[in-house]
Parts: sequence; C-alpha cells; structure tokens
Amino acid sequence: MAQDSLLQSQLNEKRATELREQISKHDYLYYNKAEPIVSDREYDLLLEELNTIEKQHPELITPDSPTHRVGGTPLKVFPTVHHKIQMLSLSNTYTRQEIQDFIRRVEEGLEGEKYSVVTELKYDGVAISLRYHEGIFTIGATRGDGVTGDDITHNIRTIRSIPLKINPVSVNGKQIMNFEVRGEVFILKDDFLSINTEREERGEKLYANPRNLAAGTLKQLDSREVAKRPLSIVCYYLYSEDIKLTSHSENLLILKQMGFPVSPVVEECLSIDEIFEYINKWELQRESLPFFIDGIVLKVNSMRQQDILGTIARSPKWAIAYKYESAKAQTLLNGISFQVGRTGVVTPVAELNPVFLAGSTVSRATLHNNDYIANLDVRVGDTVIVEKGGDVIPKVSGYVPELRTEHSIPFVFPTTCPCPHQSELHRPPGEANYYCNHAECPWQIRRKISHFASRDAMDIEGLGEKVVEQLVDIRLLTTVADIYDLHHHRDQLLQLDRWGVRSVDNLLSAIEQSKQKPFSRVLFSIGIRFVGEGGAKILAKAFMNVDAISEATIEDLTAVPEIGGRIAASIIDFFHDESEMTIVSRLREAGLQFELNESERAGISKALEGKTFVITGELETMSRKSAGDAIEQRGGKVSGSVSKKTSYVVVGANPGSKFDKAQELGVTILNESEFMAILEG
Ligand code: NAD
Repeated sequence: MAQDSLLQSQLNEKRATELREQISKHDYLYYNKAEPIVSDREYDLLLEELNTIEKQHPELITPDSPTHRVGGTPLKVFPTVHHKIQMLSLSNTYTRQEIQDFIRRVEEGLEGEKYSVVTELKYDGVAISLRYHEGIFTIGATRGDGVTGDDITHNIRTIRSIPLKINPVSVNGKQIMNFEVRGEVFILKDDFLSINTEREERGEKLYANPRNLAAGTLKQLDSREVAKRPLSIVCYYLYSEDIKLTSHSENLLILKQMGFPVSPVVEECLSIDEIFEYINKWELQRESLPFFIDGIVLKVNSMRQQDILGTIARSPKWAIAYKYESAKAQTLLNGISFQVGRTGVVTPVAELNPVFLAGSTVSRATLHNNDYIANLDVRVGDTVIVEKGGDVIPKVSGYVPELRTEHSIPFVFPTTCPCPHQSELHRPPGEANYYCNHAECPWQIRRKISHFASRDAMDIEGLGEKVVEQLVDIRLLTTVADIYDLHHHRDQLLQLDRWGVRSVDNLLSAIEQSKQKPFSRVLFSIGIRFVGEGGAKILAKAFMNVDAISEATIEDLTAVPEIGGRIAASIIDFFHDESEMTIVSRLREAGLQFELNESERAGISKALEGKTFVITGELETMSRKSAGDAIEQRGGKVSGSVSKKTSYVVVGANPGSKFDKAQELGVTILNESEFMAILEG
C-alpha cells in the first residue's frame, strides 16, 4: 500500500514536471515568438491539469510554476519597466457552470453584501500599460511577466487614438493627472484580413490570428514600421494615487472623458441571468463586430469589493474571462489535394463543399500531414467538422460518424509527387511529413524562389508568387541564383504580358538593392531545411561567415544553443549538396552578403557586456558548456557562485543550492526559455 502511494506520488511529480515544461514551451512560443502551436483550449487544459495536481499536492509547487505567474517575459531588447501594480492575467472558463461557480465564490467572499458585475467584450489583442504624469503620456509598456514589461513607449505613441495629453477630469474636486491606464491593443478584422491577403499574394507566411499580428507589431524595433500598421486600442482600467476611485464602471466613464477609447457595449449586471444574457447576445453577434473577440470578461464593479476579494497567483478573484468555443461547421470532404512546399514537403489540403463559417466562406482547410489524417481517420466523402478557433485559418478537426457511408475507405497517402515528374515521395525516419526530392519539381522551384524573394527573406519587391510562377514557366528562373542574372534578360522581360519599362526596371533595381541584405537574411533565404529566421540569426552570429558554417562539424553546430541534432544534420546535408553549393557560389559572385559586417560583429561581442551569469541545473536544449560559450561570445561572464553582483541565474532541471542562494539574494532568475530570449536578443 505504502509502495503504491509512493509510486503515485512519483507519477504526480513526473507529470507536474512534464506539464511545467510543456507549458513553459508554449508560453515561449505564444508570448515571445507569437507563434503558438496548440489552441488556447488545449493550453488551458494543460494549465488546469497542473493546477489540480498542485492543489492536491502543494508540496509539488515550485517557485517558478506557471500556475503562479503570467507567461510572458520581457524581451530585454527594450528597456524594462517595473509595473507599480502587477499586471495579472484572467482565469479562463469555457462553461456556464464555471461562471456560476465564480459567482458563488464572489458571494461567499463578500459575505452576503450586495454587488454588481460589469460585463465587457474580451478583445483579442495584447494588454498594455500607459502611464501619465501631469496629464502627459510618459511610458507605455507590455505586460511581460506581469511584474516587469518592455518599455515600448515609442511604438505606442504611434497609435493615434491614444491621447498624448488628456482632457483633465475632476472627481470630488480633485483633478486626476498622475495615473495608469491599461487596455488592449488590437487590429480591426478588415485590416487584419487585408494585411494577410497582401502577404498571401507575396507568398509570405500568414499571421495565424490578430493577436499575433498585434503582438508582433508592438515588438518591432523600428517605430516607423509600427506606424504603418493600423493598430487600435480599447482601455479598461484606471488607477491613480491622486484619488480613491470607487467603481469600475465609473472609471470607464472617467477614461472616456479624458479622451481614451473605451468599449461602447459595457453593461452592469445585477443577476446571473443578466450576465448570461450578455454572453448569449455577443455569442450570436460577435461575427458582426468589426474586431475579433474571444470571449467576455466579468468584473466585480466596486473597487472596495475588488480589494476584499483580492487575487490568487496569476489572476484576480474579482474577475474572470468566459471564452467562446471556436466556431465550427459541418461540410462534405470532396477530396484531398496536395501542395508542395519549398523544401519539397507535401501538405494535404481538404477540398470542401463551400461552407460559411465565422464571417467567411471556407472551401479549403489544412490537413497538416499523414499522421493528422490517420489520427482523425477522415476519409474522402465524409461529412467533416471544420473549425476556426483563435486562429483565423480553418482546420478540419473530425468527422461525423453517423453520416459516414459504408463504402468509405481509409485515406492512403500517395507514394508519388503530384508534380509533373511524379517522383517517388519519401518520409525521413522520425518525421511526420513526406517529401518530394526531385530537383526540377516546378512547384518546389516556385516556392523556393518565392520564399527567397519574400519580405522576411530578401524582400524583393515585385517578385511575388504570380511573377515567380510566370518566370519559372518560361524557364527564366530555375534556381534562386537566376534572379541575379535577370538584368541580362531585360528585353525578354519587356516582351512579357503585363510588363512595362517601369515595372521591369523597378524589379531589376529591387533585385540590385537586395544584395545589401544582411548575412542572416541570406542564410534564411537560401532555404536550408529547418533553418528559420531565428535559426539563421543564431547561426550567423555564432559562425560569422558562410565558410565557417559549411566547414562546421555536427559537434560544432550542436554546440550552438538552439541548434539541435536535426537542424545540424540538415545544415551538413545542405552544404554537401553540389547543386546547392553551385547556387551559393553564384549568389556570392553576384555580390550577396555571406558574412557579418563590421557593425554586426561589434554588436555581438557587446550584447551581454557587464552581465554575469550563473548556470545551475540541467538545460534541455544545450549543455551548460555551450550556454557558457554563448554568454561569453556576447561579452558576458560566467561565474560558478552566486553573489549580489550576479546579474542572472539560469535555472534548469534539478537545480542545486545556487538556485536557493539566488532567491535569498533576490537575483533575477531565468528559466531556459527566458535565457534563450536574451541570447536571441
Ligand atoms: P487571456 O487572454 O486569457 O486573458 C487576459 C487578458 O485579456 C488580459 O491580459 C487582457 O490582455 C485581455 N483583455 C481583453 N479584453 C479585456 C477586458 N475587457 N478587460 C480585461 N482584460 C481584457 O490571458 P493571457 O494571460 O493574456 O493569456 C493566457 C491565455 O492565453 C491562456 O489561458 C491561453 O488561453 C492563452 N495561451 C495560449 C497559448 C498557446 O500556446 N495556445 C500559450 C499561452 C497562453
């Protein structure tokens, strides 16, 4: 018996550790990269499971548990702002029962006092804090980890609807001039869709949802770029030391009088029925709103009662978010077609009977890969469920068993590429994707060239997907290196449909200008499998030039943080491939940047100058030695013991006494993903 419970407690501990690791990975992808790979619902289930284990076994709670803190980390490329009052998250609920439980807890907490609840729309954007001194906007910051955020004042200034100077408002004869406002920065649906349409036309990666776009925009380093993006804001929080504020609904009125945009559809509810009415109304009408919402926020109105109720861990007890389930529809799966990506990856796409879903007609949806189809067991001829979650891009999430016909047959992934060469597909061990390896597959060529020219890569204006298709078809382009020979074919270009002197010359000059793009962009653009934008930056910084990368061994490559065995093997394959090497040397001859320039070299060696790090515990993505090398390469120091002078203690799994010492001395503690964010700069 005792052995059983020992075993159970070991299992709980193991599960809690696993959950913490998974949640911290998702936090990093969601908050720092704005590229989540699971839905909010899936994430919330992981968090709930961890919460339940920790509630039942408080001895398993760790100081860095995600149940006790908000998930983001300040990016460190911006100055850091300390929030005077912590910026919390909200507990999320998905059921009416949970709303009833919330109301019951509020009533218990208030011991029978009367109260009201304000209901608001939950805008799907990014929380920010705005500070005003003597009525003038002084600091704008992100939520970060709730305690400290990034100072993004310059970027926030570009949002026109934020008053830089307020209309003074008096309450009880006293003007409120020094205060903090919080709100949500978001993007209107139309703006979001048109930004994505433009990206699609240029063959660029789409933003999964407006929140990612807003988050990515606010973190831009160049505020001129931010100013080009149509950001909106809605404000929902006011705090001032000048005066004691009494209720949330009154605060919203004051904010409005001061000149801040506030939501016009806030309601004060006196009963749970009124709350449900509000939830129902907006569930039906949310598609007609010009912006995206992902739910409703409920807040106890009285500030005094908010204080009585207080907060737990990462969220207040006086507020809660009710999240709407993602929009779903049923439709017929007419067929499965295939797209071939630039690396040859073959992606199955569901061809659907057009169905109207959450504001647009859907006729295609991704099926990701063979495993995804096999797990769902969807078959051509099935009635399938199509979903649009927080993500605007639809996906097939299942089929309706009752509507399956008896003749349906399980889907079998094709063995040959759908391209004209019909080459045999292969699936590398351990991977979910099938690949076409044919060097002349025109689909791959188009995608490779489109990727190369896209905005995040070499950014060649005028070389969008349609143009690439046209030039590949007439074989003016067969590899990316041919782009830099196009000036020899000016006359031929002028003969083509839809081309004139101006457009041809603009294209040729954009190509010429692209030669100045930094080395990391070139590295990303040449399309080494698994080397994304971030990976290319890391490689460029670590090796400084392309010769060093091409000569690196697996050990040299994996010694670099974030470069795992799979990426390293792919880099080695790339640089051993003769045809890729021919392309690289042609690009070199054309004058592209294949090494870091002077100022980049100087920047790297100084990024962590003056900072001392201590590393304790086992890191997941790199050895302690390579973490230390990465710090030193950036001008930082690594020390074996913690003192007050230590800037950061990086904590991996099973940390030693250095972790306790860091807590005792109040030294900033970084988990692995926070450490990575610093290294990435
Ligand atoms: P949240 O988005 O669930 O709710 C809190 C936020 O709501 C506030 O910080 C604020 O930004 C926003 N908000 C919008 N309208 C508001 C209003 N009227 N009043 C007050 N706040 C309003 O919480 P979060 O902390 O930003 O994110 C946590 C949630 O994000 C998780 O519960 C999960 O659903 C999701 N998440 C998903 C992943 C993933 O990988 N999919 C990873 C991390 C977090």
